[in-house]
Amino acid sequence: MSTILTTIVTPNGKVFEGHVQMVSVRAKSGDMGVLPNHMPLVAPLEISAVKLKTEEKDEYVAVSGGFIEVRRDSVTILTESAERKEDIDVARAERAKEEAEARLAELGEGSPEYEAAKNDLKRAENRLRVASLK
Ligand code: ATP
Repeated sequence: MSTILTTIVTPNGKVFEGHVQMVSVRAKSGDMGVLPNHMPLVAPLEISAVKLKTEEKDEYVAVSGGFIEVRRDSVTILTESAERKEDIDVARAERAKEEAEARLAELGEGSPEYEAAKNDLKRAENRLRVASLK
């Protein structure tokens, strides 16, 4: 079966690199499954899970948004932060979630800090969701 060379890159380095059968992402425009020979494109991503299907298993990576670039034989995901499911520190994400919720309760809706806290909450909830995926 043909595969796609897939790389997930952050400012801190590569989080994933490997040949996969399918990459599933949540783009801003909706869910997208990328198979070999997909049409080339660039699309912004939601704070979400990336699923990497290989012959042996499915791998999951939490990404904090960013972009996917699809070429004929490769996929690159560029994002500010990304963690493989196994590397997610659940206690840290729970702490971040509680802190963000506390800030949201204090801040007025519409302020820049409120939007920042909402994003922090989304990242923490996404990490918790990815860590719990089977
Ligand atoms: P925190 O408040 O816990 O720092 P954060 O959402 O502010 O969370 P980011 O700024 O998104 O963190 O990421 C900073 C770095 O820490 C990145 O390298 C990211 O991959 C890593 N990171 C953040 N949260 C976790 C976590 N729960 N488990 C593993 N790595 C994490």
